[in-house]
Amino acid sequence: MFRKILIANRGEIALRIIRACNDLNIQSVAIYSQADEQSLHVKMANEAYKISQDPLKGYLDPDAIIEIAKKSGAQAIHPGYGFLSENADFAYKVCGSGLVFIGPAPGVIAKMGDKNQARNLMQENGIPIVPGTLPLNNNTQAEIKDFAHKIGYPIILKAVAGGGGRGIRVVFDENQLMDSLETCKKEAKAFFKNDEVFMEKYIQNPRHIEFQILADNYGNVVHLLERDCSIQRRHQKLLEIAPSPSISEDLRRRMGAAAVMAAKVSGYSNAGTVEFLLDDMNCFYFMEMNTRIQVEHGVTEEITGLDLVARQIRIASGELLELHQNHIMPQGFSIEARINAEDAHRDFAPNPGKITEYFPALGPCVRIDSCIYKDYVIPPYYDSMVAKVIVRASSYDLAVNKMIRALKEFKVEGIRTTTDFLLNICKERNFRRGDFDTSYIQTHFDRLLVQEAEDSVFIAITKAMSLKYDLELPFHKE
Ligand code: ADP
Ligand code: ADP
Ligand code: MG
Repeated sequence: MFRKILIANRGEIALRIIRACNDLNIQSVAIYSQADEQSLHVKMANEAYKISQDPLKGYLDPDAIIEIAKKSGAQAIHPGYGFLSENADFAYKVCGSGLVFIGPAPGVIAKMGDKNQARNLMQENGIPIVPGTLPLNNNTQAEIKDFAHKIGYPIILKAVAGGGGRGIRVVFDENQLMDSLETCKKEAKAFFKNDEVFMEKYIQNPRHIEFQILADNYGNVVHLLERDCSIQRRHQKLLEIAPSPSISEDLRRRMGAAAVMAAKVSGYSNAGTVEFLLDDMNCFYFMEMNTRIQVEHGVTEEITGLDLVARQIRIASGELLELHQNHIMPQGFSIEARINAEDAHRDFAPNPGKITEYFPALGPCVRIDSCIYKDYVIPPYYDSMVAKVIVRASSYDLAVNKMIRALKEFKVEGIRTTTDFLLNICKERNFRRGDFDTSYIQTHFDRLLVQEAEDSVFIAITKAMSLKYDLELPFHKE
């Protein structure tokens, strides 16, 4: 096992990794930018090194990161999510310098990080993919229009190297096609330094169902069940549920087998996620593989009792995976709500700033993975997600109750957050029924915002009367 690990990340995921290191008696090394001097990961790690004056450059500088790892005596690097986590060149460099990269082999990152290559590999192995094209690199306008016509509108344009819901455009008719392709390519170039874009059939009102994979360095692979991440805004996840409240045992078995197969044929090791779209006829299609720990890994931990970050470290250190598929059974349901420092009323514009008051939700089966504290000033340079509220309960219905309770307790003052917006979603009858798809937020957006206003009146009244509004919720079924 490693004695010391460098964490090439910041924010809540850096804290999550430090905690896993502490649990395993491993020393942790943090890196930080000038803007992150007061961030919690700097205070919590055993050692911390300033890597750059610039807010972003250091976290994206493979050579500087490796140099600090060497200097500190770390034996391995955990990349977290975002930043360099899916950068194959970084992984190559880490391995080339004699350190261990906590993730799959660099070649696998390169292969699966390219949506086009990943789709081809799946197709060759009989795993269904969404009908689509190769990258539209040297095609004429006429050819591109013909592709779209043959696939049938609406279609979706996606960056080959995309991630985080960026570099995606849905196109409803031919008039928008070439302009959308142009903007998509520009966004792809800006975010991923690769302007390759391909086209897929746009599946109408699908569910996003993804399977967590765990694989060791010796070819043993299991899946740790699925997460339903259909509640999205702008192709980005807001709420995630494990297991999905609405897929049958038979479908779970078939999708799980496809996910394991995807990992096996790609030579996968470590933790990863196979994402599928599920259409209204319950047909599933491979969408992409994320070759890293995912933001929403916590819900899988809650229902399986496994520590995924600790498992990543143990696998990278050469441990054999002793888990068997038959032994992996979900224990109840878990839901995660991503708290973003954003103003839902201003099109989710980022709202960084000073936290003047902070009260995280507590109580049984409530977990907060967060990087904020009272008086912390959220820097404006990074992703706006600042906390994840995770709950667990024996049934989906009770998990929804618990999430409503937790989101009401969770208080951040000084900045605007998505907490109330998420609360409104959880209060929706359709959410409780498991009746939603990826278009849910867009379809119900106005109502979700209006209810927020009603809810704050409700909270104001109950606060004034010093009542415990938890007790007044009208839906205790059990
Ligand atoms: P997906 O790529 O399937 O949407 P996630 O929602 O886990 O998966 O992550 C979205 C993308 O944005 C990933 O590339 C992830 O690494 C990055 N990302 C998401 N949230 C953050 C965050 N708080 N800080 C840094 N990167 C993030
Ligand atoms: P990213 O790498 O940014 O996570 P994905 O390929 O995983 O990109 O797609 C992100 C989201 O966009 C999906 O969760 C889904 O909601 C939507 N999406 C992607 N492809 C399609 C498609 N072919 N049809 C309908 N929706 C899609
Ligand atoms: Mg995705």
